[in-house]
Amino acid sequence: MAKKVAVVTGANKGIGFAIVKGLCEAGYAGDIILTARNEKLGREAVEPLKSKGSNVLFHRLDITEESSAHELKKFLESNYGGLDLLINNAGIAFKVAATEPFSEQAEVTMRTNFLGTLHVSHALFPLLRPHARVVNVSSFVSKRSLDQCSPELQAKFRNPSLSEEELCSLMKDFVDAAKRGDHRALGWPNTAYGTSKIGVTALSRIQARVLSETRPGDGILVNACCPGWVRTDMAGPKAPKSPEEGAETPIYLALLPEGSTQPHGQFVSDKTVQVW
Ligand code: NDP
Repeated sequence: MAKKVAVVTGANKGIGFAIVKGLCEAGYAGDIILTARNEKLGREAVEPLKSKGSNVLFHRLDITEESSAHELKKFLESNYGGLDLLINNAGIAFKVAATEPFSEQAEVTMRTNFLGTLHVSHALFPLLRPHARVVNVSSFVSKRSLDQCSPELQAKFRNPSLSEEELCSLMKDFVDAAKRGDHRALGWPNTAYGTSKIGVTALSRIQARVLSETRPGDGILVNACCPGWVRTDMAGPKAPKSPEEGAETPIYLALLPEGSTQPHGQFVSDKTVQVW
């Protein structure tokens, strides 16, 4: 039988690193590929995990570079012949005090959080083996931002038949509106991070539906989740949860036992399905 393999993006620090550590401590029965955009930081992060049980390896991945995702795909194909677990964790958020104009924040945040997650998924989904698990780290802010959208936009994002093309076009509409400065007038919330995470949660629902349609017997489960408010470089020292606590829900979804049928296509927080 082929050796199992897991990929975690943005895992040199924060919640991503805690997810890799937690998978090791849970005795993940396969190799874990810790990925990071910065090779030095990624290799350093692997070191303390060497004694933790599972075999942790580094591979570079910048989620905004399609070529980087394809390099990782080739590595997985030739060394494992497939993929059993993908955790799309990498993400960015501008600080509240950031001085970049909102238009720039919208474009850069969307390029990383939504388009990066989309491109990594496009590259790696063809490798998913039966019973694979995909966890997209979104945020409670996605739900809050959805609730701040106009009723028309809310209906589009909640539409169970929303397509990936329609979602991409909506995300582009937001960035275009942010550049013109009329996003609020058009019913968008005033948050680049929140809107990009609406995209991540909605994408997860679409990915789950498409896999159920195209590979109905394969038992692959895809979910979006919120780690909670976690003390990392992104959220700062005042957040209540440790990175290890933040990793709990992503790890729970990653390790849903073979044969499980739910949750699938859900937004999960504190190991509980949330209303979208
Ligand atoms: P950190 O800022 O601590 O870590 C983010 C990680 O993503 C880093 O490893 C960073 O790499 C990486 N990253 C950013 N851009 C890219 C890229 N283009 N390619 C590859 N890796 C990249 O944040 P957290 O650990 O807090 O966040 C992890 C996830 O959890 C994010 O998706 C975030 O939105 C989400 N989240 C976090 C919450 C919190 O309270 N902390 C709350 C809700 C959701 P580098 O070191 O090179 O910058």
